[in-house]
Amino acid sequence: MTIADRLSVIREKITAACKKCGRPEDAVKLLAVSKTFPARSIMEAWEAGQVDFGESRQQEAGPKIADLPKEIRWHFIGRLQRNKVRKVLGDFSVIHGVGSLRLAAHIDHVAQDMDIKPDIYLQVDIANEASKGGFPLLDLESDLSQIAEMKNLSVQGLMVIPPYSDDLDVTRKWFKKTRDFRDYLENHTGIKLPGLSMGMSGDFETAIEEGSTVVRVGSAIFGERDYPV
Ligand SMILES: *Cc1c(COP(=O)(O)O)cnc(C)c1O
Repeated sequence: MTIADRLSVIREKITAACKKCGRPEDAVKLLAVSKTFPARSIMEAWEAGQVDFGESRQQEAGPKIADLPKEIRWHFIGRLQRNKVRKVLGDFSVIHGVGSLRLAAHIDHVAQDMDIKPDIYLQVDIANEASKGGFPLLDLESDLSQIAEMKNLSVQGLMVIPPYSDDLDVTRKWFKKTRDFRDYLENHTGIKLPGLSMGMSGDFETAIEEGSTVVRVGSAIFGERDYPV
């Protein structure tokens, strides 16, 4: 199967998952995660109509982004280090995985300096796995109103990377917990968090059933990665 073939299979599965749970099919955006794959693979997906792409390392993505059509919308999905913020904001329009008040404030500051307003997703550490990054739930609850006031951030919603499990029922519980936490935050703060960035190649249909609005799909489109990221 070509990349175009795999993309159309994924799009059909997204449509079917939306139908199954009564959501409109345009409620879910497909983010093609192209990390480790060369620019020509991204070009193939672009020519098949894919516009949103995800990368997790600035060093790897920068040269690819420079070579590819300017109309591509780049999403940064990796761990963002403070000293990379300016470069990342130059190349990417959406940042998934902002996991601390301090980082949010720094992005806001740099964005103000660059006169831009990037879309951001706040990563939640839903299963208390500090190693993965993301806000502990209590921290996000107390920091959210301050973040929502930052003038150069456009807060879209929450992002989650649940603990790995090969049991979709277990993964589903983490997705549901994330959505419930989002609902709780909205109700308690009045701040709108419509976006839920959750679901990858192995579990995106489950994520859609639990309310995902952005699925981040890599290997199911581009094939297995040669090395883990
Ligand atoms: C690599 C990656 C993905 C895509 O994973 P696949 O299993 O290849 O679909 C999604 N989200 C994040 C944060 C990633 O780093």
